[in-house]
Amino acid sequence: MNTLLHVANLKKYFSTKSGRLHAVDDISFTLERGKTLGIVGESGCGKSTLGRVVLHLMPATSGTLVFENEDISAPTPQRLHELRKNMQMIFQDSFASLNPRQCVSEIIGEPLQIYKVCANKHEYRARIREIMDTVGLAERLSNAYPHELDGGRRQRIGIGRALALNPKFIVCDEPVSALDVSIQAQILNLMQDLQRDRDLTYLFITHDLSVVRHISNTILVMYLGVAAEKTTTEELFIHQYHPYTKALLSAIPRANLQYKQERILLRGELTSPIEPPPMCRFAPRCNYAKEKCFNSQPPLEDVSPGHAVACHFAREINGL
Ligand code: SF4
Repeated sequence: MNTLLHVANLKKYFSTKSGRLHAVDDISFTLERGKTLGIVGESGCGKSTLGRVVLHLMPATSGTLVFENEDISAPTPQRLHELRKNMQMIFQDSFASLNPRQCVSEIIGEPLQIYKVCANKHEYRARIREIMDTVGLAERLSNAYPHELDGGRRQRIGIGRALALNPKFIVCDEPVSALDVSIQAQILNLMQDLQRDRDLTYLFITHDLSVVRHISNTILVMYLGVAAEKTTTEELFIHQYHPYTKALLSAIPRANLQYKQERILLRGELTSPIEPPPMCRFAPRCNYAKEKCFNSQPPLEDVSPGHAVACHFAREINGL
């Protein structure tokens, strides 16, 4: 095992007029070098906030972050500036995340300039050409602006910008959600090739289980700021023990029409994430909820080796 990132009891609360909104509530995970952890959940579950807090794009309320055996929970501004070389982000909305006034070479070259990594202009231009080639952008597009390009090419620029400083770790926040399915596959394949060639480690955030299955080694399912289930990708697609994960997987369209799976429809109100009471946050929508579910919050516990579930009745529901 070669751990790159360890996150322990991470919390991010936002102050609102009605109280504190628990966007990320006690999330822990370990990410091995060269691997991908998929974070899955509905929009509003806190997965994007989690990615931003891990990168220090917003401060954590509490919790511990350890990157390459160094505690980076509260880095100095200077250390954070250094860390950014190794910790980058790819955004969902490539259009909004790219400066419309900068052309492709300027966008990809900006991190190189900020960190002064090139000795001269010749090296700077060569490095930009190399990055564009790596992400599959033709050299003739160097002077093109984001609005002149399609979504797939814009996302390639975003990936190129993230790669510019040779990072070790990238948070990928819904990087293919805004793309057509055929382009999605191209970008996912590119990201997998880059990971293999550069030993990159990804935190891959998505609401799409088909996408996360394609790219992740392990998956953490989030529900309203808390972890619902965590295990390897292979295991999760065979055994889902949390009722919420079961519902998520039942919604994936299947190519094999002979294999029918009934879709589990979620009814009931969402629990408010503002000062949530100590209960299972999924209880109002859960078909298996009992009194205990409304009175105590289930801890994330292993129900089989390497397979953790936050449900009081996971064993009973699944006959374990
Ligand atoms: Fe459902 Fe209760 Fe399990 Fe929560 S703890 S998922 S409400 S059975």
